[in-house]
Formats: sequence, C-alpha cells, structure tokens
Amino acid sequence: MGVLSSGGGRSLRAPPPRVTPEPLNTDRSDPRGASGAGGADPSRIFSWHSGASAGRGIMSKVEVKTSLLDNMIGLGDMVLLEPLTEDSFIQNLKNRFNHNEIYTYIGSVVISMNPYKSLPIYTADKVEEYRNRNFYELSPHIYALADEAYRSLRDQDKDQCILITGESGAGKTEASKLVMSYVAAVCGKSLEVNKVKEQLLQSNPVLEAFGNAKTVRNDNSSRFGKYMDIEFDFKGDPMGGVISNYLLEKSRVVKQPRGERNFHIFYQLLSGASEEQLKKLKLDRDVSKFNYLSLDSAVVNGVDDAANFRTIMDAMQTVGFTDKEVHSVLVLVVAVLKLGNIRFKSESRVDGYSESQVEDSNDLKEICELLGIKQSVLEKAFSTRTVEAKQEKVSTTLTVAQAYYARDALAKNLYNRLFSWLVTRINESIKVQSTERKKVMGVLDIYGFEIFENNGFEQFIINYCNEKLQQIFIELTLREEQEEYIREGIEWKNIEYFNNAVICDLIENNKKGILAMLDEECLRPGAVSDNTFLDKLSTVYAGHHHFESRRSKNSKFLSDHSLPHDCFRIQHYAGKVLYCVEGFVDKNNDLLYRDLSQAMYEATHTLIKLLFPEGNPKKVNLKRPPTAGFQFRASVGTLMKNLQSKNPNYIRCIKPNDKKATRMFTETLVRHQVRYLGLMENVRVRRAGYAFRQLYTPCLERYKMLCKQTWPHWRGSARYRVETLLTSLQIPKEEFAYGCSKIFIRNPTTLFDLEKKRGEC
Ligand code: ADP
Ligand code: MG
Repeated sequence: MGVLSSGGGRSLRAPPPRVTPEPLNTDRSDPRGASGAGGADPSRIFSWHSGASAGRGIMSKVEVKTSLLDNMIGLGDMVLLEPLTEDSFIQNLKNRFNHNEIYTYIGSVVISMNPYKSLPIYTADKVEEYRNRNFYELSPHIYALADEAYRSLRDQDKDQCILITGESGAGKTEASKLVMSYVAAVCGKSLEVNKVKEQLLQSNPVLEAFGNAKTVRNDNSSRFGKYMDIEFDFKGDPMGGVISNYLLEKSRVVKQPRGERNFHIFYQLLSGASEEQLKKLKLDRDVSKFNYLSLDSAVVNGVDDAANFRTIMDAMQTVGFTDKEVHSVLVLVVAVLKLGNIRFKSESRVDGYSESQVEDSNDLKEICELLGIKQSVLEKAFSTRTVEAKQEKVSTTLTVAQAYYARDALAKNLYNRLFSWLVTRINESIKVQSTERKKVMGVLDIYGFEIFENNGFEQFIINYCNEKLQQIFIELTLREEQEEYIREGIEWKNIEYFNNAVICDLIENNKKGILAMLDEECLRPGAVSDNTFLDKLSTVYAGHHHFESRRSKNSKFLSDHSLPHDCFRIQHYAGKVLYCVEGFVDKNNDLLYRDLSQAMYEATHTLIKLLFPEGNPKKVNLKRPPTAGFQFRASVGTLMKNLQSKNPNYIRCIKPNDKKATRMFTETLVRHQVRYLGLMENVRVRRAGYAFRQLYTPCLERYKMLCKQTWPHWRGSARYRVETLLTSLQIPKEEFAYGCSKIFIRNPTTLFDLEKKRGEC
C-alpha cells in the first residue's frame, strides 16, 4: 500500500458510513474533486472539522475556503486543501491545533501534533467509536490508523508496520503506546491473551526507565531507537513479540548536557529503593554524592521518581524477571554509579615512570564486593594496560587521563550492555513458543532527524538512519505509486521528487562510503586521527554534490567561514548539517581496554561475566570487534529489509513549540518540520492520484447487486461489467480510471457512497 493507494489497502469490511446523502456540489475546478464528487457526500469529509460540526450537512468549497480564513477548525485531510501551499498547510495545522484537533491526514498518513496536555480523546468510548469503522469516516485520529492496520492484518493477512517519525519531543513514543494500547483494547480478552498483552505493554516502562532521560527537549526522551514486532495468531490475538534496540546514547551515562539528567533508573533507584535494598546495594540515597549524576535538574517537575521505581519493579515482575535477576540488574546500576566516583592520582614508580593509581579505594572496593571481582585485579586494570603486538604481550602504564578515559569507557560499556541484555531478557519472556504462522505488526519509534548547533558522530548516525527511512518512504510510496499507474496504463503526471539514494550511498557504500572510510581509518595501524579521516573524505568526495569540506583540494568552500576546518557538511534530504569530526574515530572504535573486559569476566557475579564475553582469556580474539558504525549499518540494513516486507502506515509527529507548552504554535519551528518530513511532497503526490484501487473481479463481486446488468447474472469481462455498473450508477467519469487489472477511484467519498448503497440493498 502506498500513499496514493491508501484506499487500496483499506478493508471494506466496515459497516457503511452513517451519513445521509446530501445534494451534490458541482464545482469541479479542484482536480481532486475535493469538495464533492458526483455521488459522494462531501459532508463526511468536512465533518472532520470536529465532532461538533459533524453532520451539519454539506459545505461548498467556497465555504471551506472561507472557513479556513476564518480560523475555523480546518480540514481533516490536507489532500483537500485549496490552494495548496506551504502557508495554507501550516495555517491548516494551526487552525486545527488551536481547536485541539491534533490529528490531520494526508490521505492515509497521520500527522500528529503534540498537544502537551492530556486530551479526553483516548477513552474506552473513543476506542469503541473507531473500532471497525472506515478510515475516512470519522475525525482524523491515531486510532483510525491503528484500527485499519489491525484489521488489514487480521482480515487480509497483510503484515503491517507503523513507522513513527519526528523530532525529539514530537510525540513518537506516546504515539507508539497509543497504537499498542488500541490494538490491545480491540483484540481478544482471554486470560492467556491478557497475560501476553500485559507483558508486551509492561516492557515499555522497563525500557523507558533504563533508556529514557530528561532532556531540554523532552522530560521523558527516549535515548535509543526501538522497533517492536508484535506477533498475532490467525484470530488476530497477540501471541508475543520481538524488540530490537538501536544505538543507546551511552555517553549520557558519564556526562549530561546542562539542564538534562542521566537515565531515569539512577534517580528512581536512589529515591525509591527501601532502606534494606540500599544497604544491600551499599548505596547512599543522596544524589549529590555521585559524579555521574547531574545536580541541576535532579528533580523533574511532576515526576515522582520513587513511585516510578515501584512501577518499574512491578513491571519487571510482570514481564518475567526473577527477583534475583532484578537484584543483579540493580547491582550493575550501582556499579556504574560508583565507577563515576573513582578518582585517580599520578604515582611515581621506582623506574622513574609515573602511573595512574586509584586515589581512595573505598568505591572501588565496594564495586568489587558487589560484582565479586578481586580488588587488586581491577586496581591493576586502572593503572596499566596490556598491549598485544606480534603475539607478544607488553604492559604499559596508564596516565591519569587514560585511567579516567578507561573508567568512563567501562561505565558506558557496562550500562550499554546491560541495556541490551534487558532487551534480550524481555524478548525471552515475550517470545512466541508456537510454530504456527504468525501475522506481524511492527512498530518503529526511532529518533528523528537531528540538526543541532554541534553535531557529532551520534547525529551523523541518527541522520543516516533517517535517510534510510526516507528512502523506504520514497520507495514504498512515491515510486511504487507512479510505477503502478504506468503498469496499469493510467495517465500519470510525473511528480518530480528527490531520490535520496545518492546520500545513502555517500554514507553507506561498502567500499568508499563515509562509514567504510571511517572504519578503514579506525583499523589502520599507527597514528589514526579524526583529521586524517577528514582529509581522506575531502579528497575522495571533492566535488560531490552532497558533501562539502574546506579541506578539499581547490575547495570552493575555502572562504566559507560557516564551514570550519574540522567539519564537513552534508546536504541531507532534510537540509544541510555541519558535522564536527572530533570524536568520530574514538566513538566508532568504541575501545575498551582488554584488561578491563578481562577483569569483568573474572567476576563471580554471573550477569556481569555474561556481558563481557571477550574478556574470556581462553578465547582471546585478536580480531578487532566490529566498529559502532559497522554494527549500526548492519542493524539498519536488517531493519529496512524487515520494514520493506510489510505494509507501511505512517505517523508523522510534529512538535508545536520548543517550550513544552500547551497552546503555543511556533510557526517557524513547524515549518521546518513540515519541510524535512517531506509533507508537501506527500500531499502533492496524493492529490495527483486516486485514493482507492481494487482488482476488477472483487470489485464486481462486492457491488454487483447495485445494478440490474450485473446481478443476479452477468456476462463479459469483469472490467466491462464494472464499467457498466459504475455508468449505471451515474457516477461522473472523472471519478474513475480503468487500469489493465484494477479500477481506480479518485475520492474516498465515492467509495463510501458505493458502500452505503450496498448497505441499503
Ligand atoms: P518523542 O518520543 O517524540 O521524543 P514523546 O512521545 O516522549 O516524544 O512525547 C513528549 C511528551 O509530550 C510526552 O511526555 C507527553 O508529555 C507529551 N505528549 C506527546 N504526545 C502526546 C499526546 N498525544 N497527548 C498528550 N501529551 C502528549
Ligand atoms: Mg521517544
């Protein structure tokens, strides 16, 4: 299903809409017949204005235009917007937002504006209202999309994926939870099914506690990407699922930007643990005692960390963690906290060299007690490191700076691996045991495009992922739409669109993509540096349309002072982003000294041993572990394949302002998002085409009773009969196009009308 074929993928099993037909509007200057096509009832479309205006009858296009200008509630589907400009698009969003209408369609795509307040639109009654109803029948709502996706999965056996994108704080995670809770509400309710649902739903708070943090943009910002496949049986009841996680922002463990916090779990544990728990964990409740915890925003308004801690503990139990496992997890969380308190000093040795030494060993001692590691082993790993060269082991001393680097690397790695283990453990619990064929609904909640003042390796990786998602969007919607029209022999006005494959290739090409060149630099022996990496990029990509650097020979950017010497700029589909190359090599390498992984492997604490398998001295692997970039590229590749095999449903989240404020609509900010989400292009393609399509035979089967020539008996080809049928119903010609194998219907309203007539038969 593509954007244009929204109707094509939509089930027709729903009852006909409950609207009385009204006289027709004959003004057809709108190419889409937006304000009413023959036989269609435009009031249904315009009833999207709101519940209040629903059913008040027909509105002519003139009225619609006036209503837009008059700041009324706006149009439910951007496809109907006239004239279509970026300004009218944004004005429509604004009008709707001002009336608490946070959802708007572009055909089958749902735009969701974050209201930053709770609206009474997610009640059980709302679920019932949207259940089994046609997509276009009611006011735009995320439930309509969830319902369509679920029914298409259950009744038509089409695997679905829900792709939720938008920038941080736009409402992606909330949207993913709304979709999941809707599906949970409308599927089966047996004891067994309810248990599965609970486990699936309760995995959310667990992962949020460990993977979310307060940032300046969002008090509950997901610092990882998440994709969850929910698996259903033939009846449409959930059997279990699989979660994949992407790139946790582990640098947050050791340092947080101003006004932001570390991951929630640290604060929750300190506020919510019982005295007995604290004693067992050798923990002091005072946040100010821990270097890794920022103080300036330790308390978040309206957030009760202690209560949340209890919720998380309950959720872990529901998901299936044993008490022992929970304790193990908390021990590791404490170990990370205490690592941050270890200090080092420089100590002179007898041979004249100096080495780093742990200054006050109390924290180190407690970590070792908690993890079951010999104190001397860890102490040594913080003052010397073993370098293996040509099968010889050489011990070199660490400077104090190197010791701090090693400490932070250990803390980041430990937390990151703990997080991945949590996902694996949850997957074990929610795994489907049965071998029966499953129907799958995937929900993707992943970081949107990021353009900050300072962009580094993380932004580069995140934006690469968004390029790939955009490519899927292009492939699955725009291109397939056009190709289908051509295949079917239907006239198609070519819509120019930018294909971002060239940017994906620039980044991921196996041989000389930016990631491959970064790997090459990381694996090269000798002095590797961010600068030599940038030099190489600048040579290889001098003159590339999407790459800019002042270091390129004869660079035309030499005098461009907005492009600093240590940066490169990429023209992404969503705009230009300047990346500072500092830290690329280090972050891609993601090095952890082997002495530290070996120390961790020696632990008697089983979980920590499990997390550092490379520390096993018997399995010394001289090959370097895959780089961070390589791993990410591989997991994005798998994700894309998975998504491509499914029927996509899009939710595009938009943040109305930067202040987390209700009722504030910052136009420039919204405009920026509308641009980089490619929404205007989306409407243009959608408008140029047909909302619904179906093979001739099923179409005839469904509507044959509406015409004497087609029912009870009919002869001739299905195509011929469909034509006879539609002509006899006196629906204007321009509402249809006859393809080689399918009938194409321009307006959803025409379809409703057919459905209605069918219901009356
Ligand atoms: P993202 O995942 O895109 O970063 P979130 O889904 O975490 O953003 O949303 C950020 C915050 O915005 C939420 O914590 C919530 O307060 C608010 N929010 C988002 N969507 C809604 C909604 N549909 N209704 C009410 N508040 C919302
Ligand atoms: Mg989120």
